[in-house]
Amino acid sequence: MLTRQQTLDATYRLRRLRRMKSLRRMVQESTLSPDDFIYPLFVHEGASRREPIGAMPGQFRLSVDLLPAEVEQLSALGVPAVLLFGIASYKDAYASYATQRDSVVPQAIRTIKRANPELVVITDVCVCAYTEHGHCGIVREDGYVDNDASLSILAEMALAHAEAGADIVAPSAMMDGQVQAIREKLDEAGFTETAIMAYSAKYASAFYGPFREAADSAPQFGDRRSYQMDPPNAREAVREVLADVEQGADIVMVKPGLAYLDVVRLVREAVDVPLAVYNVSGEYSMLKAAAEKGWIDERAVGLEMLMAFRRAGADLIITYLAKEAAEWLKGS
Ligand SMILES: [Zn+2]
Repeated sequence: MLTRQQTLDATYRLRRLRRMKSLRRMVQESTLSPDDFIYPLFVHEGASRREPIGAMPGQFRLSVDLLPAEVEQLSALGVPAVLLFGIASYKDAYASYATQRDSVVPQAIRTIKRANPELVVITDVCVCAYTEHGHCGIVREDGYVDNDASLSILAEMALAHAEAGADIVAPSAMMDGQVQAIREKLDEAGFTETAIMAYSAKYASAFYGPFREAADSAPQFGDRRSYQMDPPNAREAVREVLADVEQGADIVMVKPGLAYLDVVRLVREAVDVPLAVYNVSGEYSMLKAAAEKGWIDERAVGLEMLMAFRRAGADLIITYLAKEAAEWLKGS
């Protein structure tokens, strides 16, 4: 029988493998690389328009003509994909701008694909930036967002993006059946190769605040709690994800990231499809603001945060930090 001290000597010496950097590298469980990153881009009409987004220092709304330079920079950094958000030049009750073939997002897709066919183009498919009321679907007279009436518009919007050359469409409206409606529409039109990345577990979160300024998509009345997920629920996220996989989602997503790492882990254990996490605007803005004040080390905290998503089980990270993090990783 070993004494307590002997047991400690013999087994509980976990620090042995932390002694040197090279040893730590050998036993590192998670990795972080620019290959994991997807960079969100906000696009609007016009020319040579590069407008800073106030609440998101370092992020801009870009006109289509500025995209080739932007994607060249991303490719040089090794970031393989962008997620496009369109800013509508006009809005109405039915989001007509969202389904137009020559609106800003299809233009952006064609421009990026001409500049760099290898860059993976993902497009956000939702109507909140395109409706006067700012909701993610068609609003009934009684103010309720009509699920099934919204599906055909979302499917048509996805088709417009696929026709323009999008590699992946990403439905984010949280309407039930949106993945199936889009899959059927794309397949009927012959776009069987276009993949779907579903915002499967998207929570009604206050962490989206700065994004609404960026995309000009704040709801004009009420909130999104009747369709986005309720923050106290985790098991329900698994049900949402399973439903999307059943409907044909190629990639599923949890959004936001930092406050929902338990959900990322649960989903990781429930499905085998690639899992993305959205490191949202509020998370980015908090990091930037605290770093600007000198209260935290932006680079160290930024990388630690991104690694946390990988440790929780995410394969892909949608992050506004993609460019900086790719640079930081080069130097580390
Ligand atoms: Zn939306």
